[in-house]
Parts: sequence; C-alpha cells; structure tokens
Amino acid sequence: MAGSSQQQSGVHDLRSALDRLRRHPGQLLETDREVDPIADLAGVYRRVGAGGTVLRPTRIGPAMMFNRISGYAGSRVLVGLMASRERVGLLLDAPPRRLTQRMGQAVKDAIGPVDVGRDKALCQEVVHRAGDPGFDLRKLLPAPTNTEEDAGPYFCLGLVLGSDPDMGTDVTIHRLCVQSKDELTIFFAPGRHIDNFRRRAEAQGRSLPVSVNMGLDPAIHIGATFEAPTTPYGYDELAIAGGLRGRPVELVDCLTVRQKCIAAAEVVIEGEILPDTRMAEDRNTHSGHAMPEFPGYNGPANPALPVMKVTAITTRKNPILQTLVGPGEEHVSLAGIPTEASIYNACEAAMPGFVTEVYSHSAGGGKFLAVMKVDKSAAFDDGRARQAALVALGTYAELKNVILVDGDVDIFDTNDVLWAMQTRMQGDRDILTLPGIAGHVLDPSQTPEYNPLLPAKGVTAKTIFDATVPWEHREMFVRAPFRDVDPHPYAPDLFPEPSGDGGSGHRD
Ligand code: MN
Repeated sequence: MAGSSQQQSGVHDLRSALDRLRRHPGQLLETDREVDPIADLAGVYRRVGAGGTVLRPTRIGPAMMFNRISGYAGSRVLVGLMASRERVGLLLDAPPRRLTQRMGQAVKDAIGPVDVGRDKALCQEVVHRAGDPGFDLRKLLPAPTNTEEDAGPYFCLGLVLGSDPDMGTDVTIHRLCVQSKDELTIFFAPGRHIDNFRRRAEAQGRSLPVSVNMGLDPAIHIGATFEAPTTPYGYDELAIAGGLRGRPVELVDCLTVRQKCIAAAEVVIEGEILPDTRMAEDRNTHSGHAMPEFPGYNGPANPALPVMKVTAITTRKNPILQTLVGPGEEHVSLAGIPTEASIYNACEAAMPGFVTEVYSHSAGGGKFLAVMKVDKSAAFDDGRARQAALVALGTYAELKNVILVDGDVDIFDTNDVLWAMQTRMQGDRDILTLPGIAGHVLDPSQTPEYNPLLPAKGVTAKTIFDATVPWEHREMFVRAPFRDVDPHPYAPDLFPEPSGDGGSGHRD
C-alpha cells in the first residue's frame, strides 16, 4: 500500500527529494572539497544560495551538499534545500506562484500520521546509545557553527516531536545548541506548544520525552511551521504533510524514550527535556550571542534555557545532516509559505474571492511583511481591502507590515510592488498605523528602548500600506497598454516556446 502511493507521489523522504532535484539543472550542488563546519560551511553557503535577510553579498542559488566535513569522516551536510521558491515548487508539485493555495488546500486535506513497525524504521539502521562507551554527540554529528560569534554548534533544522497526555502530539523546529557529550539546550519562543507540554510536565516533576527528527521529506518541515490559529494547541502538524502528499507520515517507536520518531528521518536524537534544569546557551563560549536568527541579526545568547538530555542517536546508513544558515530564503520558504496559506484561507473564509494572492515577502524573513493582491469592483471595496489587511494581521500575530496592491501588480516582483507604492499612494491618507500590538521578540526594533510607547520587547506598531487605486479614480491609473506580441519568433533563445496568449492581436 504505502509503497505504491510513494511511487505515485515521488518525493517521500529526503533522498527522494534530492533525486528529484538532480533532474533539474542548477538546483543541487555537491562538493567533495573538505569544509570546516565552524563558520566556513555557512560562510560558503551565504555566498552560494542563502538569499533572504543575510548579509550581502548573497544570492538565490542551489541547495548544497558538503560531502567532506573536517573532523567528521564519513559525514555529509545538506544546506539550503528550500532556499528558493522555485525549488519548493519542484519539491511540492506546484508552480511557485500557486504554493500559497497548495499549502492552504493541504490544511483542508490534512491526514494524521500512522504508526508503523520496526521493519520500516529506516532511521534506526544505525544506533548509538548514550550508555555506550565513548558516546559523544559532538563527535557523532557535525552540527555546524554558523558564525564565529555563535554560542556553539547548532542543529538548525531539528524537528522536535513532543506529546502531552491530554493535548496529543506537536512538532516544531527549535534551535538546539550542543552543550556537552549528551546535552542540548532548546530555545522556545514565547507560547510554543511543546513548551507548554514541557511546563505541564515540569509542574508534575516529570521530564518530557522528545525526538529530534532531521533530514526529512520537505513536506514535513514546511507543514510543521504552521502556527495557531491555523494549527491550534493540540493540533498535530504532521497531518499537513499528510495532506500535501496524500498519504500519512509514518512514525516508529523510539528505542530509549517513550516517544515516536519519523521512520524515514536521516537522523533522530532521542532524549528528554529535564524538569527544573536550566543552562546558559553560551556557557561553553561566553560569546554573548546565540546564532544568526531569521531577521538577519545574531541575537543574544539566552541565560537560562531548558536542557534536553540525549539518550540515543539513531540514523540511516550514511546519513545526511540537514541544516540551514539561520536567516535567508530557506526561512522565508519555511515560515512564509504557511503564513501566506493561513492568511489566504482566512480571507477566503471572510470575503470569498476578494484576496487573490498573498506573498510573505523575503525582506521580512517570511514573517514580518505580507503583500496582498485584491480584486476591487466597487467603491465599497476600498474599505474591504483594508479589512483584508486586518484579517491578515488577525490571522498571523507575528506579521508587522502589510502592502495592498491591485490585480495588475505582480506581488512576487518587488520592483512592481514598489512602483505601486510610488504612484498609487499618498503617505497622509494611505498609511494606517496601529500602535502597540503583539509582534515578534526577534525584531530588534520591537523594544521599549527603540520606541518608548511599547510596553515590552516583542510589542510593535503595525502598518498597512494601501497601494491600491481608489475605485472612483481608477481611470487615472490604467497602465500604458503595450500590445501583447509573441516574442518567440524574434528572440527564440529567450522564449523557446510560442506564447499561448500573446501575438493573436498582432496577426489579426
Ligand atoms: Mn503546534
């Protein structure tokens, strides 16, 4: 059963995802040149393909596999799997412009995970138990240190799976800093669901058993980044990957803790988050910094984080450790496309057909900035456009700025969006500022030091930029009507295929 549906769907784990990319030139770069996991690996990828919010120069580029890691014979590291919208489209079977709707539909089609037997536990082909002589997670897995001022090596794409007796299962990506041979610190942004599980366990004096799953079908990672209210407390986000693939994610029992892990993961770290135990994130380096975060800054090291005690590491044979560099286009895809889908679905429910496209822009790391396209057909729709922006802000708490544009603007073309802002806005009537609303702690401008009107870090002013044309003035804003000529006969190298809709007017 599972075998035949896997064949239909194609991508079902990380290796089949990489096989698909190998069929598309320019999407996957492999190197056998040895690389230092401390600062060099991320430093190389920043130039090759990080994009997004990282320090310039950077670019959108291929995913990159490093086959030789200094100090880790036989290990390999993959970075940037989802660091381009085009590549995410290839991996999720959708045109890049339709990923919003594809993800929105997956929420509606959600299929919960299933338990399978040990015979399908690819992730347990190789087992290292913490009790084994010489066990040291620092030597077993080449966790990269992304910049020289980071608190330490991090697992950056560890999908933490936790559960609560009353609330069920939750999966989320959290930053995990390697602290010793069998300890990791785990950072939870405020309100994260697994942190609630941890608090409930701690209140009863219990540890929280978890698995950290790495090297996955990209549908699992991107499905896991949905947030409440789309995926409320108690919702198992693995069901969205099920909806994307039309088949459930398969789970197996961990070997050393009472928890599940993802059967086809490349690497699983098993362990438990200890009660009443805290550790400074930079206790080994005293660097003062954590790691590069999605807004593009190295945030402060946390003085007191919960600690995960590792009980085992299990892997596939010749495992691939998957990572990201922190900020960049990979974060934009992971956080932004689910955000677009949540906003799109909420607007469809509130005002069907009115919001036609949503883009969680790269400049905001996929979280801070949304561009929304609306379809006005009456003067009343001037007000509905602004209402749609409020729906977006109400749907996704971390969203800070919204730009509204009309149907003739390409929301994925920043030049075109900025054009609309130049010619279809007047600052005194088209910028709406909403003071003092919950936002995101990792934006360094969201602090009382920056803005004395804010009561606390992570509270922010929110802004709606209405770059749509007022309905009554629409005749003044018609773009110059170039004829739609098929360029293929004139420039066949640039346009290999005859254009479907262009050219008919020319021939007539
Ligand atoms: Mn959740």
